[in-house]
Amino acid sequence: MASYEFVDHAYDVVVVGAGGSGLRAALGAAQQGLKVACVTKVFPTRSHTVAAQGGISASLGNMGEDSWQWHMYDTVKGSDWLGDQDAIEYLVREAPKAVYELEHWGVPFSRTEEGKIYQRAFGGMTRNFGEGPVQRTCAAADRTGHAMLHTLYGQSVRREVEFFIEYFALDLIMQDGACTGVTAWKLDDGTLHRFRAKLVILATGGYGRAYFSATSAHTCTGDGNAMVLRAGLPCQDMEFVQFHPTGIYGAGCLITEGARGEGGYLTNSEGERFMERYAPSAKDLASRDVVSRSMTIEIREGRGVGPNKDHIFLHLDHLDPKILHERLPGISESAKIFAGVDVTKQPIPVLPTVHYNMGGIPTNYHGEVLTKRDGNPDAVVPGLMAVGEAACVSVHGANRLGSNSLIDLVVFGRAAGLRAGQIVDKASAVPDAPASATDGHLARFDRFRHASGSTPTAELRIQMQRAMQSDAAVFRTGRTLQEGVDKLRAIDAAGDTIRTTDRGMIWNTDLVETLEYDNLIAQALVTIEGALNREESRGAHAREDFPERDDENWMKHTLAWKRPGEGVVLDDRPVHAYTMTDEIEYIAPKARVY
Ligand SMILES: Cc1cc2nc3c(=O)[nH]c(=O)nc-3n(C[C@H](O)[C@H](O)[C@H](O)COP(=O)(O)OP(=O)(O)OC[C@H]3O[C@@H](n4cnc5c(N)ncnc54)[C@H](O)[C@@H]3O)c2cc1C
Repeated sequence: MASYEFVDHAYDVVVVGAGGSGLRAALGAAQQGLKVACVTKVFPTRSHTVAAQGGISASLGNMGEDSWQWHMYDTVKGSDWLGDQDAIEYLVREAPKAVYELEHWGVPFSRTEEGKIYQRAFGGMTRNFGEGPVQRTCAAADRTGHAMLHTLYGQSVRREVEFFIEYFALDLIMQDGACTGVTAWKLDDGTLHRFRAKLVILATGGYGRAYFSATSAHTCTGDGNAMVLRAGLPCQDMEFVQFHPTGIYGAGCLITEGARGEGGYLTNSEGERFMERYAPSAKDLASRDVVSRSMTIEIREGRGVGPNKDHIFLHLDHLDPKILHERLPGISESAKIFAGVDVTKQPIPVLPTVHYNMGGIPTNYHGEVLTKRDGNPDAVVPGLMAVGEAACVSVHGANRLGSNSLIDLVVFGRAAGLRAGQIVDKASAVPDAPASATDGHLARFDRFRHASGSTPTAELRIQMQRAMQSDAAVFRTGRTLQEGVDKLRAIDAAGDTIRTTDRGMIWNTDLVETLEYDNLIAQALVTIEGALNREESRGAHAREDFPERDDENWMKHTLAWKRPGEGVVLDDRPVHAYTMTDEIEYIAPKARVY
């Protein structure tokens, strides 16, 4: 092995990731007077949060009556009763405060005539416990994430968060079951860095790129989840992968649900508005799992559009061009560029596309990472937190409602900052780590840097992405999942034959992609093995061989470890079937009616 040296850093808190959740957590910890570093592989405002279009949910009630209790009911129902209700209560109660905070920091929200924050309808968001749609999603045109990210970055700089930009985090420094830092590789000069810390907060986003067609950026490789798996800790509920109904056919880029929120609708080859059949009440604004499945059935039964009858049309052409220009300018442009369509005149060709990972690193609603230890399913891992899409709090359970992720980022980013203020002792010394705690990180890095096998990384990556796309899809069966497990195990094993060609340390994108691929394959495996194991249908996990939700046997979170030599090891932990305060009662499971 080549010899490597670390540049050493010491902080109270190190946040890995500068998307909405990482920035909110970093700035929150800095507000507590802590010394904070934020390490990110891309420039902060290029994080995937920048692409969020539709908006951020909060029961402000600017467009009609609303309440946090209704928002809670919708989120629990949307989660198909897999969400932890204490965490959901925390989310929806804190949501309005978090949105006003963003407003005061400078997010340029769209406005109503009276100057209030504009709110649009989104799937699954209802009034009076399911009675009819409510306008709850606050929006800055169709560039809400962009506006949030720029505002949060500015505020973090103002609070003197120290940024380490284009540093690729490698692994967690673990000592006696506690996290004491993280190692990283500085991409532009090739140096390696050791960030010692009293607390590490992972905010590394989702892993959509384990699939062939995803709305997420190429950088969404779930590096934090994989770091957790390598640290011997579990990920949770990874089998729940959300398909967004309206990815642009072919390109995969997103057309926001806000398009249907503004009145857009879907049609099949017969020109029929088929969602009226599947979800008579919510129609085109039924939750994403329902719409994606309905579209897939239409295509399967021969009613798809286009020469190959393999996609669906989304109509906006009946809407006032002025509204389209004001409220949906970004997607009008995307449709033009990626589908060659003028949305004022033609429908957009769309297809369900991988969009969001409900699963991730298990945490409580303070952001503290959990594991199952000595029979305790809620054992806190000292020194480690996770927030954002990387985390599984779990407020989204088996299916996330649109606009509930952006609010999750800021509410739990803020919660993590507050908790950091309580548990990090400013006066204590930053823990040190012996070389043995980071030797494994270097060995892995060096192995890939000098990998001289027969298979290029890109070859294994495309095999993995195709296997996930076909075998862990919108609909799943035991047979396809087992085939997928077999394929992915073989692809994982072929990692021993991987080949990189660039041996350098500076801007070595070959090595970056290889480290990312290695992170992705671990997550692909826990995802598909969890899916094979879960013999029921719930939220985004639709098993054709087990079409019913089975609350008796399966209302529980999956925990998945990936152990060297053993492969994926599965266990479970109970869903929190209780609320945070006694101001709202536990919402008991109901049958699924749409
Ligand atoms: C196209 C699109 C539209 C969406 N629209 C909406 C919407 O309208 N409303 C809504 O609620 N949700 C929406 N979502 C979902 C939501 O935007 C995401 O879930 C959310 O932005 C994720 O934020 P995050 O902070 O967890 O991570 P991200 O924004 O993905 O950021 C991850 C960060 O981690 C860093 N990172 C990752 N790995 C490493 C590493 N190894 N080393 C160092 N740094 C690392 C990256 O540099 C980046 O800064 C949308 C998602 C997509 C893809």
